[in-house]
Amino acid sequence: MKTRSIEKVTKPGMPHFVGDGFRVHNFIPGTSTMQRMDPFIMMDYNSKYNFPPTDKPKGVGVHPHRGFETVTIAYKGKVEHADSSGGGGVIGEGDVQWMTAASGVLHKEFHETEWSKTGGEFQMVQLWVNLPAKDKMSPPKYQAISNAEMKKVPLPNGDGEIEIIAGDYNGNKGPASTFSPVNMFNVRLKKGAKTKLSFPSTYTTALLMVEGDAKINGETEAPQDHFVMFGNDGESFTMEASTDTIILVLSGEPLNEPIAAHGPFVMNTKEELIEAFQDFNMGKFGYLED
Ligand code: MN
Repeated sequence: MKTRSIEKVTKPGMPHFVGDGFRVHNFIPGTSTMQRMDPFIMMDYNSKYNFPPTDKPKGVGVHPHRGFETVTIAYKGKVEHADSSGGGGVIGEGDVQWMTAASGVLHKEFHETEWSKTGGEFQMVQLWVNLPAKDKMSPPKYQAISNAEMKKVPLPNGDGEIEIIAGDYNGNKGPASTFSPVNMFNVRLKKGAKTKLSFPSTYTTALLMVEGDAKINGETEAPQDHFVMFGNDGESFTMEASTDTIILVLSGEPLNEPIAAHGPFVMNTKEELIEAFQDFNMGKFGYLED
């Protein structure tokens, strides 16, 4: 198996606030274009940030989505979600919320009420996974994936473990159901440990350094909070932990379909985008209380 080259290592850019609850660095499409990152069309990363205690939970109020899935991975802190299709719940440290907006939902995302009262360190990833054209107008769906449900594969010699959110690692499958082939793993490596992963060369493959630093392919330093984008010239890559690390691994088959995106809607054509705005304005996304 041939080694994949590293296309780019991106440092976290200037953070901005989404609502008043998410202080994020944008890596997708910041690092590259949506087309290049296909099927991962957006990634906002809330690197560790301390929120003071408050009785009024911070977050983002009611807003729409159509045409893709939003995936929220909680590393520190707790978020509460509710959407107009009846989906909702709380996810905490280690949990994942996988919301299929598809034909359209209204939702809101806030820090959990009790967590807000004490506040503390908050660290989270929000990723948008594009849907194939044939599934963009399918019914909305909600998967709350607790950390306990995730398949965890120990590495030899106590080197750490691979936690599978979605996809397949050596025949071990993650709990999330996806519309196209998507692998999403948390690789937890002890200091000094090394491991190797392989995905088809055509898959869009990237890493987010959630905790600690590592050396990729034996030569490139990937410090905490950086994003590593691989080329499509090989299958495998290695990660060697310089400190105890958590690395979010993404690898997905590109949909290779046209992308028409504006704000909270990601469709295939401009006409479908206009329709999305019209449907939203006509109240076709349902109702959700503020
Ligand atoms: Mn949203």
